[in-house]
Amino acid sequence: MYDIIIKNGKILDGTGCPAFDSDLAIKDGKIACIAENLTGGKKIIDARGLVVTPGFIDSHSHSDSTVLSFPGQAEKAEQGITTSIGGNCGSTNWPALKNGEVVLASTMLDQAAHVPQGSNLATFVGHRALRRVVMGMEKRSATQGELEKMGKLLRDGIQAGALGISFGLIYTPSCYARTEELIYLAKVAKECGGMLSAHIRSEADDLVEAVSEMITVAKAADVRTVFSHHKAMFRQNHGKVNTTLALIRQAIKEGADIYCDVYPYIASSTSLAARFIPDKYVNDQLPEYMKDIRLRSELKTKNLEKWGEDLSWVQINTCAYDPAFSGLTLTEAAQLHSKDVYETLFDILQAQPQCQASFLSMCEADVETVMAYERTMICTDSAVAGDKIDYHPRLRGSFPRVLGRYVRQRNVVSLPEMIRKMTSLPASVYGLQRKGLLAPGYDADICIFDPDTIIDRADFKDCTKQAEGLFYVFVSGQLVAENAIYNGATPGKLILRKNEVS
Ligand SMILES: [Zn+2]
Repeated sequence: MYDIIIKNGKILDGTGCPAFDSDLAIKDGKIACIAENLTGGKKIIDARGLVVTPGFIDSHSHSDSTVLSFPGQAEKAEQGITTSIGGNCGSTNWPALKNGEVVLASTMLDQAAHVPQGSNLATFVGHRALRRVVMGMEKRSATQGELEKMGKLLRDGIQAGALGISFGLIYTPSCYARTEELIYLAKVAKECGGMLSAHIRSEADDLVEAVSEMITVAKAADVRTVFSHHKAMFRQNHGKVNTTLALIRQAIKEGADIYCDVYPYIASSTSLAARFIPDKYVNDQLPEYMKDIRLRSELKTKNLEKWGEDLSWVQINTCAYDPAFSGLTLTEAAQLHSKDVYETLFDILQAQPQCQASFLSMCEADVETVMAYERTMICTDSAVAGDKIDYHPRLRGSFPRVLGRYVRQRNVVSLPEMIRKMTSLPASVYGLQRKGLLAPGYDADICIFDPDTIIDRADFKDCTKQAEGLFYVFVSGQLVAENAIYNGATPGKLILRKNEVS
């Protein structure tokens, strides 16, 4: 007797091969059998007209940040994600300093592993966390002694089951690290069977140089490397991904082991303050600073030099200060009240210093170029919402959007190939055992959707809208979402790799 039989569906098994008609049976959380005319299920799901695929793997996320506080990860299940790769961009809560004592990554991962999750999660150890523990926020290169201390902490995390090390080289204090430090730590990761996830030093004017630096690291440490959320920001850099992908292809020819991931939007997202206001003013005092007319004028001059008058690429998310601004670009918001665009920006920050915005700084052609590359995986680049009400729609929409917009509407790659990029490719890159394929003995992490209707509905005006056309999502044989609504089940877990590199 099987627990569940999914009948009459089209099986896309994750290998990239075309779909075939078959039933699929689940027993004890695993795929028991894939064959026609199966009988003897306690529960039957009719998947006529639908495709049955492995659960999606979010190749680059920040779900680790709420592993203890919001383990349901509702928005992940609601877009078909059954496993997320977390701990990226150098940012992890582990290791940490508590009352002057080092709390090891292994201790923290062990604690997190006891908290049931809505979907599975594997994680890196963040370089920023290592540096903060060993060097605080020091703006300098690490000494040999400090390198060794960071290496030891990293080794502890990977031996406890973390995937490897992640870099976030645009953020403090990671940005103070020189290439030698990156190579040293990447070598430690490699020695313990780990890998590297790299948010590189620039995704804008110095993109090509930043990719070259990371290729140097990947080669020097001979370590598997994933280029995080690969993109080229701002008009003058559009098209550079052709150059960077050529560099990556060449490096692979020379023996490097490199992959990329991408999220399916031309907008990145962060706070307005982070983009336009120098760090030293971005604190609790920001509303006060914004009342200072002289400072406003100084900041306007600096921003004009850098960005010019046209801020039509900056889209305000939810604006509590003036709800009419929600979803408008800064240029449109300024026009609404016939005001100067920078004065409008400063008014918003004075009233709502945390106001989030989306930056329409990439271009469709680049997104598609990166997405079509055979070594590119798909990601959300998101933390779960938790108690936040305002976030980038990629947190809810990425995977349905790729399937609706980039496969069905724009034909960037075929459906079987895209499913491979969402499933077996990341499973093999990150060494996730028994995941990413529909095959007997594999974990029953499964999505059932209609390839003719699946689409994201979350957008910059309302990031909370669930996807359409995604009917069932299972984690380890348990239903976690139906019609893209999470049901509260927690069959997922923290995956600790324990050096099971495939
Ligand atoms: Zn990043």
